[in-house]
Amino acid sequence: MGLPERQVHTAGHPGKVAGMSDPGLLHSWISGAPAPDPDAARFDNRNPATGQLLAVVEEADAAMVDRAVRAARDAFPGWAARTGAERGRILRAAADGLRAFNDEFARLEVLDVGKPLSEAHEVDVASAADCLEYFAGVAAAIGGQHVDLGPSAFGYTRREPLGVCVGIGAWNYPLQIAAWKAAPALAAGNTMVFKPSELTPTNAFEFANVLAEAGLPPGVFNAVQGRGSTGRALVEHPGVDKVSITGSVATGKKVMAGAAATLKHVTMELGGKSPLIVFDDADLDNAVSGALLGNFYTQGEICSNGTRVFVHRSVHDDFVGRLRERTERMVVGDPLDWKTHVGSLISPEHLDKVLGYVRLGVEEGATLLTGGDRVTEGDLANGCFVRPAIFVGCDDGMRIVREEIFGPVACVLPFEDEDEVVRRANDTDFGLAAGVFTKDLARAHRVVARLQAGTCWINTYNLTPVELPFGGVKQSGLGRENSLAALDAYTQLKSVYVELGDVDAPY
Ligand code: NDP
Repeated sequence: MGLPERQVHTAGHPGKVAGMSDPGLLHSWISGAPAPDPDAARFDNRNPATGQLLAVVEEADAAMVDRAVRAARDAFPGWAARTGAERGRILRAAADGLRAFNDEFARLEVLDVGKPLSEAHEVDVASAADCLEYFAGVAAAIGGQHVDLGPSAFGYTRREPLGVCVGIGAWNYPLQIAAWKAAPALAAGNTMVFKPSELTPTNAFEFANVLAEAGLPPGVFNAVQGRGSTGRALVEHPGVDKVSITGSVATGKKVMAGAAATLKHVTMELGGKSPLIVFDDADLDNAVSGALLGNFYTQGEICSNGTRVFVHRSVHDDFVGRLRERTERMVVGDPLDWKTHVGSLISPEHLDKVLGYVRLGVEEGATLLTGGDRVTEGDLANGCFVRPAIFVGCDDGMRIVREEIFGPVACVLPFEDEDEVVRRANDTDFGLAAGVFTKDLARAHRVVARLQAGTCWINTYNLTPVELPFGGVKQSGLGRENSLAALDAYTQLKSVYVELGDVDAPY
């Protein structure tokens, strides 16, 4: 059909090539196999760093969504009936499968997202594998409680799966998001239909393939390709019991409203505009490292980024000088080059949005200290590259300080004292994350306790190990991913009262 070869194959990965009906045509994955649909509408998947076509994607319509949900429904009783140990064994094999193809998965992620290979190679695939391994380990330990109710009665609780869970992903960490949703859901005995972002469809398909090769029964994990309308069809489908979405606040609200019609469980991992607070006694080099990680990693396309950098006035100039110097040393370049620190933004539309915010910041009266311009040298002209930007002279009312930009734009804000900075840090509808740099540990814990954020860091930023819950408060979300807390989000409790004596009826 005249489509170009896909850029990278997971070489040696037997399911991969066999699973494609055409190297350039990407399908949904249902019941353990690709689900071609010759009549489907199609959309292009492009490499944001080059503009090159990576794949043509078949969009799942309502009928395909229904097929996927039915497959998950049919697979549910059998999967739920397996022991946790059996389910865990398969998830563990999938973790090994991801690790065995780390290079290939990382390259696919880079082509889809535009992020630097060094990141995808060290973090994206590894964190997905860690997540599978973690939930593989705890699957056998999922259980209820015994409750003593006196000499002739006792109670117990059963922790039961919800049924069919839908996962909907954002485009910044496609593989990690798929794993963060699928691993706890499947460990607890649920089945899943996952929809990746239309901008990053590839690795959900590959992830499904790895799970199948690890021995996952058909229908337990399905991936449907599509845009917002496909997501909406999943959310509204009566055969779905739970929806977990990673995306913007606006989409989260629509999903919650859609899920309300059938009162589905929801987990919402939404946006943020998080504060990173640097006190005057902080180790400034570490604080600058935290600010760099919390603003410019993955081109700034991270939900938990600490983009409101509050710095105590007495160290403000010193901090800003060091931040600027290290920011200007960051290498913006080809994402597939190991030396690159800052890759391409996800799309031309997003590039326009980020550049628009940079212009807005200048119009609002902030001082653009460095960066914020599009990089168009050589081949980079075909991509969406922006030099990391630092604004100083910001005030809390500016839109660049209040709104999520989701690009490499840091706003530095001076402060005088602790009460003031806590009040200003909390003065936002978001509440995803926050960071504090100080050598005074009493102050660190005191401040963290007052910050309205679901995830906080003391003397570091943006680390999200699977062992710790992750999620937001206020409009940044509901529920938690990762850790044992994620199992709560994918199970429901049944209480059982057991009478050992006679029934005492008053009539
Ligand atoms: P969007 O909200 O645009 O999309 C998220 C997902 O929802 C996509 O798969 C999208 O499909 C789908 N979708 C869109 N409309 C609907 C609908 N009406 N019903 C159901 N699904 C729908 O977010 P982005 O993909 O642009 O991701 C960036 C956002 O995600 C940022 O706000 C960021 O902060 C947030 N995010 C939050 C994280 C967290 O853990 N808290 C982590 C990462 C990102 P399609 O893409 O095809 O339109």
